[in-house]
Amino acid sequence: MSDSTADAAYASPAIEGARRTGTPELVELYEEIADCPACGLARTRTQTVPGSGPAPAEVMCVGEGPGAREDEQGLPFVGAAGRFLDELLGGIGMSRETVHIANVVKCRPPGNRDPQPEEIAACQPFLERQIALVDPLLIVTLGRFSMARWFAGTTISRIHGQPKRVGNRLVVPMFHPAAALRRGELRTVIAADFARIPELIEEARAIRTEAPSDAAAEPFAATAPAAPPSEQRALL
Ligand code: SF4
Repeated sequence: MSDSTADAAYASPAIEGARRTGTPELVELYEEIADCPACGLARTRTQTVPGSGPAPAEVMCVGEGPGAREDEQGLPFVGAAGRFLDELLGGIGMSRETVHIANVVKCRPPGNRDPQPEEIAACQPFLERQIALVDPLLIVTLGRFSMARWFAGTTISRIHGQPKRVGNRLVVPMFHPAAALRRGELRTVIAADFARIPELIEEARAIRTEAPSDAAAEPFAATAPAAPPSEQRALL
């Protein structure tokens, strides 16, 4: 069979975006994700949603997983929560053109159910490679599942907005924008947390200056994050 079949393969909006603003390695990663059969979500997805935005990038937001709109369009955060994320980024002079956006699972959980531990574990190597390629100064976790990757055994209501140094970068947990759409009182909370991002970038730049290599980078986590504490489960 001719190679032209593979060459003519459909390039998703995410892959096209990675070609424009990423690196060849990011394109390769997205293409690999596009064919991934590693967990049950491969059977129900319309397409994979690997991420969007530049690589490298100073800021990387990591959410939970694609919803219906993202599954249709192949890009993360394109529904109502995405519009609110745009608003939050705009409020600090940023945009999704300057921020890399990803999720802990790259395929939509059916019916927008929570991603299961085995699905998060299967997808985790992709997220780790994506972080390595984006090499952000600051990772913003959005919601409980990405928070659990770096902050085990706590609740988002307790630690939102409080950064922690991991290797030569900072990670800061925040509520998922969708939570603020469901609970209006969280809008000011998440906006206040986002307002700290510029100062956290400055802090992270100083960390990178003193530790430019990733020698102190976090070790690869071999297992999926533990399920979030029950208090968090209602908070997304
Ligand atoms: S969620 Fe991740 S591991 Fe599962 S099929 Fe999709 S890309 Fe593969």
